[in-house]
Amino acid sequence: MNAPAKSSKLMKGSTGDWEVVIGLEVHAQVTSQAKLFSGTSTGFGAGPNEHVSLVDSAMPGMLPVINEECVAQAVRTGLGLNAKINLRSVFDRKNYFYPDLPQGYQISQFKSPIVGEGEVVVELANGESTKVGIERLHLEQDAGKLLHDQHPSMSFVDLNRSGVALMEIVSKPDIRSPEEAQGYVSKLRTILRYLGTCDGDMEKGNLRADVNVSVRKPGDPYGTRCEIKNMNSIRFIGDAIKYEARRQIDIIEDGGAIDQETRLYDPNKGETRSMRSKEEAHDYRYFPDPDLLPLEFTQTYVDGLKAKLPELPDDKRARFVADLGLSPYDASVLVSERESADFFEAVLAKLADKKRDGKMAANWVINELFGRLNKEGQEIASSPVSAVQIASIVDLIGANTISGKIAKDLFEIVWTKGGDPKALVESLGMKQVTDTGAIEKMVDDIIAANPDKVAQVKEKPAAIQWFVGQVMKASGGKTNPQAVNEILKAKLGL
Ligand code: ADP
Ligand code: MG
Repeated sequence: MNAPAKSSKLMKGSTGDWEVVIGLEVHAQVTSQAKLFSGTSTGFGAGPNEHVSLVDSAMPGMLPVINEECVAQAVRTGLGLNAKINLRSVFDRKNYFYPDLPQGYQISQFKSPIVGEGEVVVELANGESTKVGIERLHLEQDAGKLLHDQHPSMSFVDLNRSGVALMEIVSKPDIRSPEEAQGYVSKLRTILRYLGTCDGDMEKGNLRADVNVSVRKPGDPYGTRCEIKNMNSIRFIGDAIKYEARRQIDIIEDGGAIDQETRLYDPNKGETRSMRSKEEAHDYRYFPDPDLLPLEFTQTYVDGLKAKLPELPDDKRARFVADLGLSPYDASVLVSERESADFFEAVLAKLADKKRDGKMAANWVINELFGRLNKEGQEIASSPVSAVQIASIVDLIGANTISGKIAKDLFEIVWTKGGDPKALVESLGMKQVTDTGAIEKMVDDIIAANPDKVAQVKEKPAAIQWFVGQVMKASGGKTNPQAVNEILKAKLGL
């Protein structure tokens, strides 16, 4: 990483530059049919307490039974994060009292998590990338939800989420700017969605982050951190870090010190405020859950899961660059969302000549299709133009059947009315004029009708563009500009 980019990440203060240090704890809901220790459904949208078993409501004598699929999902995620998979891990009880936690403790993993150190590569807007270390990933149960707005004098509790499997993914304090933090969360989300281990739906709270922020003078040891709890918007994560870093810098520069505390971000006010200080922090009295054996599996089991992993965004991007000659930027745009990548793969699969036209197909998907979807506020899932139709349009250009200009008209027709692009080109007479005799005829007519322009072009050869334009116009955009250019040059003696 070069020096200017690095210094631009620093924040200015009255005493000089400050470096922001950030580490994230991301809670990702595991995609699974059933909860972590019971067979209850995890389905979304059920009425209050419809998805609650005796285990989830912590009735006396109930015992947890581990859901094998949740374990597999955690291992897959660890592999996707290039992390060490621990063949032996332990479930612990994290004890605290809260009305949405009927057990009186959360089953989590403390000293021996299922996944150890790993790494995520984060691409930044300026084209550079940075690596963020993963400290660990562990499995734990979600709690229920308190509802305070259902009754004037009582709170209600909904235990549908109680016992749903979460993965807590803890990063190292390797992140140095709000943009890097946002890039990290979105990359993590992309990887999880490719893996199919978490749907990444932040609005539903299925992916949320606790954001730890501290500031220091470059080269100094780490400063005292504050933790901003439960952020479920990538935009707000950026805003909260900016606010929090500035707040800490101002306090230190005024001669104060940072208290380690938990804070909440208020998006309406754009500020963080204190929730509890370190002194009020819980003592969770962790101890191994006596109801559960340590989780042990073999390397063969891990290797089996690894062999079945889908291609991940970094690999896919590298392949698009190497095989199709895409720019790294275009390749990133295509792989950044699983839906976009799948759509582009479907286009590639249908192309007549992938080697020749793959790059053109990428341009069409990014510029014409994504551009149009953006403009109309539509999602790729509901695109009026299918991958098959895009491939067909690109085939027609690649085979010189239609010009690039006509292809845009064709795209417009397919977008609004639908239809098979190849059949439309036939029925609407959109084929490119390849008959040089016909082009020569048009060129001769235009030269004969415009002696003044002919005189001009002899002085200034760039004026040939005017002639090209006239021929294109006369042919309704159906001539090949390259061919027109050559014929014009010959006829005008340029
Ligand atoms: P705890 O379990 O008490 O929350 P951890 O040491 O596990 O503490 O750290 C939690 C998160 O805080 C990690 O993501 C880590 O990267 C981050 N972190 C640790 N020290 C700092 C610091 N000085 N500034 C910013 N983030 C930090
Ligand atoms: Mg923490």
